[in-house]
Amino acid sequence: MTANREIDSILQRAADGGRITPEEALLLYTEAPFHALGEAADTVRRRRHPDGIVTYLIDRNINYTNVCVTACKFCAFFRAPKHKEGWSHPMEEILNRCGEAVDLGATQVMLQGGHHPDYGVEYYENLFSSVKQAYPQLAIHSIGPSEILHMAKVSGVSIEDAVLRIKAAGLDSIAGAGAEMLPDRPRKAIAPLKESGARWLEVMAVAHRNGLSSTATMMMGTGETHEERIEHIRMIRDVQDLAVERGYRDDAVETGQEIGGFRAFIPWTYQPENNHLKGRTQATTMEYLRFLAMSRLFFDNVSHLQASWLTTGKDVGQLSLHLGVDDLGSIMLEENVISSAGARHRSNLHELIWMIRTADRIPAQRDTLYKHLAVHYTPEDDPTDERVVSHFSSIAMPGGGAGRKQLPVVGVS
Ligand code: SF4
Repeated sequence: MTANREIDSILQRAADGGRITPEEALLLYTEAPFHALGEAADTVRRRRHPDGIVTYLIDRNINYTNVCVTACKFCAFFRAPKHKEGWSHPMEEILNRCGEAVDLGATQVMLQGGHHPDYGVEYYENLFSSVKQAYPQLAIHSIGPSEILHMAKVSGVSIEDAVLRIKAAGLDSIAGAGAEMLPDRPRKAIAPLKESGARWLEVMAVAHRNGLSSTATMMMGTGETHEERIEHIRMIRDVQDLAVERGYRDDAVETGQEIGGFRAFIPWTYQPENNHLKGRTQATTMEYLRFLAMSRLFFDNVSHLQASWLTTGKDVGQLSLHLGVDDLGSIMLEENVISSAGARHRSNLHELIWMIRTADRIPAQRDTLYKHLAVHYTPEDDPTDERVVSHFSSIAMPGGGAGRKQLPVVGVS
């Protein structure tokens, strides 16, 4: 109970699974006492995931090119076409990296890159079919709507054609990347050449109706207002409503299935190094934690809420498990995009499991669709592979990745 009856009543309704309006979400985000907000969000987590399990994933983010024509102001990863530091990995290198990932127990790859002026649908068909043929056990959870819009434009085909072709080539799930801020004003301020938020959602809706599920992200802390943050999640919730209404999504609470629509919401905090927004305000830890908890209450139609230990740090990641979060994300065998902008947090398999267990949750490895692959009820159930560390070959980390001596960075071209 809080001293404010209106806030109490909204928290109670949301904790019970009722819908809250954007205006109510704003009130909770800005005014609700922190502990009451967290308790309500954790009530939702317990109802959705009564087994007390918090999941993690082993995956590798593999970048095929850093060449990009879109020049987002917050991005430290891209290089303009013809820049001397631009590179593209040949297929052989990408497959080598997939092979290393499989050897370390990865179940997923996230193939991620810039908007290369020459890469149309054909490039991605070849990329996905080559990975799928060599490593059918790897789920390809990759690229985001802006890459799909770009490839469709390069190839002169519709969004639907592009989605159907890359799905047929082996794409299993669309990453929620490139959402940044969906409302027009903050999006134009940080990514003036990127397609609009409405177009980002349009691609997701096309993917959902064609049987591809996805995640949704949000980048906090580039000068957007509280209202714009709420508007971002309102836009995502509306598209998810459509997926549920039209039967593209089965809600996991009701059926235990993970089909269609947005599977998870993943907010993360903007990193300020090596980009054109350097010096702008960043989201504080409290803003991030409050937003996490509020979004668990707002998304009555999204199953999972993921913490971002990579951008906020491991302590904050662990704390978030008491604010409605049920997934600690990936071990990230490789990550270069956010690390290039200053995210320096590293972890490993044992530490991720330890963080979950000491937060009084049961750790479990999951796959892309949140199926539990191994539940670690006691430390005796824990995996023993010491090689599973984050950033083991990331080029963005000073001094190279943690496992660089054993597993050298593959060459770039
Ligand atoms: S965020 Fe993506 S689209 Fe924007 S500049 Fe970076 S690589 Fe290009």
